[in-house]
Amino acid sequence: MRLLTAALLCLPVLAAQAETPSTLLSPELKAQAASLQAALATDDTAYHLVESLTTEVGARVAGSEADARAVAWAEKHFKQLGFDKVTLEPVRFPVWRRGDIRISVLGDSPQSLHAIALGWSKSTPEAGLSAEVVAFDDLDALSAASPEQLQGKIAYVSARMEKRRNGGDYGRRVAARSSGAEIAASKGAVALLIRSIGTDSDRLPHTGMGIWLGGIKPGTPASDRAMVLSNGERVALTAVPAAALSNPDADQLSRLLKLQPKLKLHYQLAGQYVGEYTSHNVVGEITGSTKPEEIIVVGGHLDSWDVGTGAIDDGAGVAITAAAVAAIKKQGLRPARTLRVVAFANEEQGVWGGKAYARAHAAELANHVGAAESDFGAGRIYRIDAGVPAKDWPLVQEIQAALDPLNIELGGQDAGGGADLSGMRDAGVPMFELLQDGTDYFDLHHTDNDTLDKIDPAALRQNVQAYATFLWLLGNAPQRVQTNFVPTPTP
Ligand SMILES: [Zn+2]
Repeated sequence: MRLLTAALLCLPVLAAQAETPSTLLSPELKAQAASLQAALATDDTAYHLVESLTTEVGARVAGSEADARAVAWAEKHFKQLGFDKVTLEPVRFPVWRRGDIRISVLGDSPQSLHAIALGWSKSTPEAGLSAEVVAFDDLDALSAASPEQLQGKIAYVSARMEKRRNGGDYGRRVAARSSGAEIAASKGAVALLIRSIGTDSDRLPHTGMGIWLGGIKPGTPASDRAMVLSNGERVALTAVPAAALSNPDADQLSRLLKLQPKLKLHYQLAGQYVGEYTSHNVVGEITGSTKPEEIIVVGGHLDSWDVGTGAIDDGAGVAITAAAVAAIKKQGLRPARTLRVVAFANEEQGVWGGKAYARAHAAELANHVGAAESDFGAGRIYRIDAGVPAKDWPLVQEIQAALDPLNIELGGQDAGGGADLSGMRDAGVPMFELLQDGTDYFDLHHTDNDTLDKIDPAALRQNVQAYATFLWLLGNAPQRVQTNFVPTPTP
């Protein structure tokens, strides 16, 4: 609410500045952007960064021992990259730990299925539970089910996610993961099982949050599943145990259900809340020469899930954005505005780092003049979107013209920014998106297959070229852009 008020207060200022005619980028700035691109065409700094992070730290789930090593890694490497300033900003959040999982088919075709618990899943009883499975084609069908159908049963959502370049089907399917347990529980089900929100055919299930922690109402009484944090916030485990099957195992279960409609599973998993932890956002910056108080933020999130080594999600994003900011100074250039890179803590389990950044910097957000997050893998960038009003669009067109040699096209005015930027966006910071080809992203996302070998060094170089170009031009543009985002007031 505080952020929304701040955004509204900015509006008269925005309207007044809207009359200023836009001055566009000088030929000198464009030539400097072109030489940055040329220099970065053979620069593997980003690849070396993500290689180092994924090798030396590995998986770094929020609140683990590796979380602290990741923060130390980022601090050390940001200093080595030559940033003018490197700071650690505390981020406090609740921690959930995964235990073992076993899901097996009972009856005539006994066999085990490959599954993984969803984040913040509640445990089954220690010995597990055995119950009949009721299948639903998608979350809407589960939502429409009657309690008689589900009482004492395991709800199974079999919907399959489709591959798209922009990952657009994720939005349609992910609700089965983030709200399925709550809906299943409301109808008396004893557990939730979903097909992984993923597009591969590997026998590796995809994890991810089983509940939206931010959605727990402030007044929720403490219980065996709802915890009150030291700052008064409420978080909760899923209402029933929740897990995802790999795609081939989901196919297998669907076939078995055709043969045996009353099929029963034995379902056993452990997961628990283990207390609070303080991690850090790691912030590096190059201070602006003539407008140091005006700040542009880029970044990615430093945490990963506990599977894979967090190469595409999101070691790549941290590496791309840090390398791009560092490259500008390395080329002997200094932007007018301050360029800041943030390696955000704990994005995966509730955007805790992004929210902490917006809180800690609330007083200077009015002077944050643009933000972009890289959190969609390591594929090539194909488009730039900007959440700015029409009067600022000619500047975006000029930036895109400089990105054209990298095969980046002009997109739309509806950039909402990455998850970690949502607090900034709501406070009126203009959002930019450099859209990556995510065709294969959901093959790997939140699985054991998210490892360094999936990153193409050439595609990573193109990402750094694009971010460096964008940062140099926006960091020196004569005009400030404004946001076109209108926050919807919370009822
Ligand atoms: Zn991510």
